[in-house]
Amino acid sequence: MPETDLSKKVADRYLKGEVLGEGTYGVVYKAIDSKTGQTVAIKKIRLGKQKEGVNFTALREIKLLKELKDPNIIELIDAFPHKGNLHLVFEFMETDLEAVIRDRNIFLSPADIKTYLQMTLKGLAYCHKKWVLHRDMKPNNLLIGSNGLLKLADFGLARIFGSPDRRFTHQVFARWYRAPELLFGTKQYGAGVDVWAAACIFAELLLRRPFLQGSSDIDQLGKIFAAFGTPTPSQWPDMIYLPDYVEYQFVPAPPLRSLFPMASDDALDLLSKMFTYDPNSRISVQQALDHRYFSSAPLPTIPDKLPRPAPKREPLTSRNVDVNPHDGPTVLSPPRKSRRVMSEREGVEGNAFQVDKNPRVGEFRPAVSEIMGGNEQVPMSMDFSIFAAKPPSRPTINSVDRSHLKRKLDLEFQHPE
Ligand code: ADP
Repeated sequence: MPETDLSKKVADRYLKGEVLGEGTYGVVYKAIDSKTGQTVAIKKIRLGKQKEGVNFTALREIKLLKELKDPNIIELIDAFPHKGNLHLVFEFMETDLEAVIRDRNIFLSPADIKTYLQMTLKGLAYCHKKWVLHRDMKPNNLLIGSNGLLKLADFGLARIFGSPDRRFTHQVFARWYRAPELLFGTKQYGAGVDVWAAACIFAELLLRRPFLQGSSDIDQLGKIFAAFGTPTPSQWPDMIYLPDYVEYQFVPAPPLRSLFPMASDDALDLLSKMFTYDPNSRISVQQALDHRYFSSAPLPTIPDKLPRPAPKREPLTSRNVDVNPHDGPTVLSPPRKSRRVMSEREGVEGNAFQVDKNPRVGEFRPAVSEIMGGNEQVPMSMDFSIFAAKPPSRPTINSVDRSHLKRKLDLEFQHPE
């Protein structure tokens, strides 16, 4: 679609301010809506080589997101093409949950954690009811406004624009929130992937650091199994049929209490139900919201009273780096833009980041299948060919992964002579 006078008119309506950061799909600017005076955040989405400009299908899909209106979902105010990019206008938010979790000056009480989780689940429940999955849940996608309200951001973008390219360093960290069925390459998945990610965020609120920090998809599964025990086929019957399934050495589950010593019994019960291996048995978001954890004492804090970082929002790129990845359990999640993953080397274990001005960024396999399964009932459909880009392909475990897995798990792979 050639740029129209109308889209130029819309673009002129927003007075561009500072860059807030660069995300998965492009740069995000602060701006003022000259018509309403409202401060907004504009996400400029690169659409690759688009000879004919931004196409209508993308806009139609995006406009569906405009219909998602809930107190715990970030509002998509407008969407318009301009100079070959798609511009998405969102309400401006002061901070995000990652900044809260990381802030050493903030004490999160059990009641505060309850509210942050409840707001997250409420936003998810609304979208799941409308058959939209988030698929990229992580603390920095949970934005927080000046009234303490938490809102889910980037809803549905992974589906509309294809999965984020995990070679971008900041995207690699999304792995930590990935459900085991995704890591085993499932092609058909549902709302359970968001529940698993929400469980990881719940765990991160309790621990004040990312819970399962895998340095590769295989390592991620290893970390999951070390925490919850290797799943047995009786626990998760469909597991062995998943495309990337490989047998892992059996390890028993340590008591959940040993991983979360400070959590209440109700918190642990909900956590274990959200971290259920079999997605068919995993608790739904609505069931999680109905769990007694939310009705038992202490009652959730009123959002307005939640502790938050100091109001001034610096661009994330310049946030202070005061994190030492070797600090052990007191390490907080480092500033997002300084999170880097080292290339996998023998003997490098544990936290997969280093705070380094000249990071060595490793080679990453692309994400496991991101394509919504054929059985999934969703309102949106997308022809990826219109973006001149193929849907992301699902990698299979290659020989490097196999030998890594063998070393890591001491498994025997027999090579026929
Ligand atoms: P990612 O794709 O990595 O999640 P985003 O594209 O969502 O990143 O955001 C990039 C930067 O813009 C981040 O610093 C984020 O905090 C900021 N940002 C995104 N949306 C908003 C918003 N609605 N209000 C204020 N800042 C935002």
